[in-house]
Amino acid sequence: MDLGHAAFPRLLEHSAPHGVDAALFSHGHPDHCADLNPLLRARAMVDTPPPALPLYAPPGELAAVLALDRPGMLDEAYRLHEFDPGERFAIGPFDVTTRLLPHSRPNAGIRLEGGGRSLVYTGDTGPSPVIAELARGADVLIAEATYAEEMPADLAGELSTARQAAGHAARARVGRLLLTHLWPGSEPQAFIEAAGRAWDGEVAIADTGMVIDLD
Ligand SMILES: [Zn+2]
Repeated sequence: MDLGHAAFPRLLEHSAPHGVDAALFSHGHPDHCADLNPLLRARAMVDTPPPALPLYAPPGELAAVLALDRPGMLDEAYRLHEFDPGERFAIGPFDVTTRLLPHSRPNAGIRLEGGGRSLVYTGDTGPSPVIAELARGADVLIAEATYAEEMPADLAGELSTARQAAGHAARARVGRLLLTHLWPGSEPQAFIEAAGRAWDGEVAIADTGMVIDLD
């Protein structure tokens, strides 16, 4: 999900490019999809390319990243499945539920379920009661928290704070909360403390290489 800046080298630590079965995107801002380009290049520019990679994204959101290369060069490397946020569908073994969440462009909140476990990811979102609906009882909520507690007024409807994310976690009664999308240079401990003022559950900051065992 959401192959943003520098996600591709991280991905290579876990899988060869041809080992990826599908890619799912919340929205088209480059910090959420820029590294789709190197993934598609790595799959296309080999002697025996793997099958086209299924891509799932809201309508038009991948147009810019898919236009980075020479026209046609990557056409055989992917198969685009656009969905309207609110749709439900399956990707491999996962049931995928999506909901439209408020952002500066259409953003899909995503719930993945499989094997009796559930993971919810907000993408980028302003506060919305839909977040807690989507995250109801989830094992893990991965929530955008760009700021710890104070939100600049001009971004108030488009992004969230750690405290707001923790409020959604409390209402949804999730198993644990993982905060991501921290503004560069932020002090992580301030986010943990802000979240703790809205929820007494388990909170962590998403970190490079982090692994969460849902069992
Ligand atoms: Zn965004």
